[in-house]
Amino acid sequence: MRQATVVVIGGGATGVGILRDLSMRGVKTILVEQKDLAYGTSSRFHGLLHSGGRYAVKDAESAQECIEENMILRKVARHAVEETEGLFVRLPEDDEAFEAAWVTACAQVNIPAIPITPAEARRLEPQLSGRAVAAYRVPDSAIDGFRLVWQNVISARKYGGEALTYTEVTAIEHVNNQVVGVKVRNTLTGQTGSIACDYIVNATGSWVGQVAHLAGVDVHVSPDRGVLIAFNHRFTSRIVNRLRPPSDGDIFVPHGSITIFGTTSSPATRPDDTIPRAAEVATLLKIGQPLFEDIYHYRILRTFAGTRPLYSADPAAGRAASRNFTIIDHEQDGLKGMATIVGGKLTTYRLMAEKMADKVCEHLGVMAECRTAAEPMIADAAAADIEAARRFFPAYGVDRAASRLGPKFPEVVKAMETDPAKRQLLCECEMVTLAEVEAMAADDTSYSLEDVRRKTRMGMGTCQGAFCGFRGVGAAAANELITGKDAPRLIEDFLEARWNGIRPVLWGNQLREAELMRGIYAAALNIDGAVDHENK
Ligand SMILES: Cc1cc2nc3c(=O)[nH]c(=O)nc-3n(C[C@H](O)[C@H](O)[C@H](O)COP(=O)(O)OP(=O)(O)OC[C@H]3O[C@@H](n4cnc5c(N)ncnc54)[C@H](O)[C@@H]3O)c2cc1C
Repeated sequence: MRQATVVVIGGGATGVGILRDLSMRGVKTILVEQKDLAYGTSSRFHGLLHSGGRYAVKDAESAQECIEENMILRKVARHAVEETEGLFVRLPEDDEAFEAAWVTACAQVNIPAIPITPAEARRLEPQLSGRAVAAYRVPDSAIDGFRLVWQNVISARKYGGEALTYTEVTAIEHVNNQVVGVKVRNTLTGQTGSIACDYIVNATGSWVGQVAHLAGVDVHVSPDRGVLIAFNHRFTSRIVNRLRPPSDGDIFVPHGSITIFGTTSSPATRPDDTIPRAAEVATLLKIGQPLFEDIYHYRILRTFAGTRPLYSADPAAGRAASRNFTIIDHEQDGLKGMATIVGGKLTTYRLMAEKMADKVCEHLGVMAECRTAAEPMIADAAAADIEAARRFFPAYGVDRAASRLGPKFPEVVKAMETDPAKRQLLCECEMVTLAEVEAMAADDTSYSLEDVRRKTRMGMGTCQGAFCGFRGVGAAAANELITGKDAPRLIEDFLEARWNGIRPVLWGNQLREAELMRGIYAAALNIDGAVDHENK
């Protein structure tokens, strides 16, 4: 049996933030995640590091938290943040009175909202509608959820924190109303085990109700579903928000080489009710067109959906329910040593983790202060490593790889230096080399090519795995990077995960690309088994 002082359940931003915070305060903490890190909503969102502008009118407290955390994360999580800046843009049909209220509300919580002319907005963002009547610059940024989560874990490990992936909590054990541990099951092998602990934090987002139930307590959370569309190019270089009360389809976020647009709000059937429907995509496009009039001509890469863990007594409240976070100490339910944290936003995950860690430390009698707002998660790469890397990486790949790899960067550069074969570029869109794939596949939390994909972004660029999928699988099979699965199985899993997001948008150029992919994999590699092996 393993032992920890605290078990954190849930490997999304909130859970890893708590793992990092407690580990930095010297508390022995183990995090357990039922799938891969960032399997839940923390990888199924716009990727907007809010300036707070979106909440300024309706929820000043949230807006203030956002602007403060935005400024902190730009420093401590700078390798996961792209400082794009943002625009709020009003169209003629949007309420003018709301614009005035918004300007006042932003000023009240110190969100810098700088007015610019519609012509200036169009100069900055040429694809923007010519019908815009007002525009403001705000300090929005883009944030990479996978990388943020992963880099929190890397940082926590430095302080003794541990993250166990594919480890589902199946029972919460307590004696005399005091928590004593959790029972776990490996979701890949079925193997069971337990972890003894003094305190449990339930940070399972939309799943908090189910996990609380394991302890015999009730937490009412209504998962609220939001659909997002990823386009194959960066048609805006800044985040663009529609200046109106928050509603569907009003945020466009550039990320690397792509743009993400969303979202919707409707009750979800389950926490992982995340496969979009074609009708939802069609509705979103219609709503988005007034801001970007050519939207129907842009090629969609894929769609995806996430569920918001809205803590509300009224499951039908949707966007009207609070986005604020809540910490529930289950001592109020007669169970000592367990708390649930629910709600909030990814932008405020660090603050949520700090408040939760304060509570745990108070319970344990630990006096150490929170340091997550001051200490960067990942140190900048050394100049000598960057210089060495320039000799082997493709021109634009060096800084990206340094940001992605963090402390593993020198090891990867060294591998490329000593063995030229490791310099092979497996993914051209995201510039991922064999050396990087090998380093990430070797991590304790990598069990499949999908796990490697999330850490490296291989297959997440404009070709969506069409050209890099088989290279990645080939490299994984040839170098025995992923054990327990043969090459055809690896490629099937990889393509199936991509297919879930492509299927709802099969028209026009998306359909053409899907056919190309089918040609490559089905016809050339016989992945669909259409060629009878006897006669092949
Ligand atoms: C469509 C959409 C767009 C959004 N856009 C933004 C945005 O642009 N900016 C922003 O700041 N916020 C945004 N949000 C909100 C933000 O994404 C979430 O608030 C945040 O990601 C929640 O993180 P979390 O760690 O609490 O939950 P999650 O990321 O869902 O993590 C919970 C984890 O718990 C795990 N788990 C569940 N049960 C168990 C178990 N029994 N054992 C072990 N593990 C378990 C799950 O697998 C999951 O990985 C958006 C949300 C949605 C839905």
